[in-house]
Amino acid sequence: MLSKRVSHIKPAPTLALTAKVNQLKNQGVDVIGFGAGEPDFDTPEFVKEACIKALKEGKTKYSPSAGILPLREAISEKLLKENGVDYKPSEIVVTAGAKMALYLVFTTILEEGDEVLLPCPYWVTYPEQIILCGAKPKEIILSEEKQFVLTAEDILPHITKRTKALILNSPSNPTGAVIPEEEMRKIADICLEHNIFIISDECYEAFVYDDEKFVSPASFSKEVREITFTVNAFSKTYSMTGWRIGYVACPEKFAKIIADLNSQTISNATTFAQYGALEAIKNPESKKFIQTMRDAFQRRRDLAYELLSGIPNISVVKPKGAFYIFPNLSFYSAKLGSDLALAEFLLEKGKVAAVPGSAFGRDGYIRISYCVSEDVLSQGILRIEKTLELLKD
Ligand code: PLP
Repeated sequence: MLSKRVSHIKPAPTLALTAKVNQLKNQGVDVIGFGAGEPDFDTPEFVKEACIKALKEGKTKYSPSAGILPLREAISEKLLKENGVDYKPSEIVVTAGAKMALYLVFTTILEEGDEVLLPCPYWVTYPEQIILCGAKPKEIILSEEKQFVLTAEDILPHITKRTKALILNSPSNPTGAVIPEEEMRKIADICLEHNIFIISDECYEAFVYDDEKFVSPASFSKEVREITFTVNAFSKTYSMTGWRIGYVACPEKFAKIIADLNSQTISNATTFAQYGALEAIKNPESKKFIQTMRDAFQRRRDLAYELLSGIPNISVVKPKGAFYIFPNLSFYSAKLGSDLALAEFLLEKGKVAAVPGSAFGRDGYIRISYCVSEDVLSQGILRIEKTLELLKD
């Protein structure tokens, strides 16, 4: 018998789609995949070299469960310099990716029956992890008319006595929405007033476009910092998804528990991968690398937005960050019964793969990841357009 806790668990649909696309490609099918949640850039060479050096020097044993000190010191410096938050190395825990950081945070603060405010559309993993910890995700529906941006007034009606935490993911996966600083401050004030933890998933901080500004809520005040878990990773910023290095920064009393949870589950994030991450954060060349990726994503975002806007009967919000775009295809999905059926139709008839919006809690949409070249992006969107034409009557 399976335990009740895991009986609902599903594989991450985004990873499942990528696996399906790879399988089709291996069979020789000419399929375009818009499912990937990872940059199509290779990890910088200097990061790989640092990891190889660490391996050769014998950095192949357990590390402290909170992570190697030089890496926590470097993260502490980065958080102060770039995010304006003062976290000591003892308030930072290195984890096996941001996914594990989030899971450890949920495990640390959630009790059976607690509620976690979850702006919807949301990244697929949040509700699963919340439920695994015995708590309930409470969706806050974000409107397309407001560009999917969470506002303070959206939150208030959802607060109950059981509300324990709010998830912020700005820039957002899957919409690319960025919460402006002024709004973020109002949201933080509400959390302070109602004793609600803020879990700020900052994985896409490096990818913000136009004049939009990234902001870490923990930088607002000492009080907000006390209720905030700042989660981040090397995965997207340095194109290191497979390395599995992320971190959480939070007040020491929580960081200590999270490090203990690390020590009783995975012991530590892979030791030599931590040395690669250390190089990524320290080497000045990284700035150029990130800028190149950001500029490429911004060009692709512009292209995807322009092409999608030209397709009849769909609406699309221009994303301000991350590397996803989330068009509304409800006119077409209604004809097939669901967005899942539409995604299958696009794959079967158009040989183009995108994740259905329902995976992110919103039927009628699809998520397109623009982690592909501009050429592939245009070809793929053209395929979507041609395939949707089959449904126009
Ligand atoms: N948070 C968000 C919003 C994500 O989109 C992802 C990955 O897709 C993660 C966290 C997980 O990051 P990591 O690969 O570091 O576990």
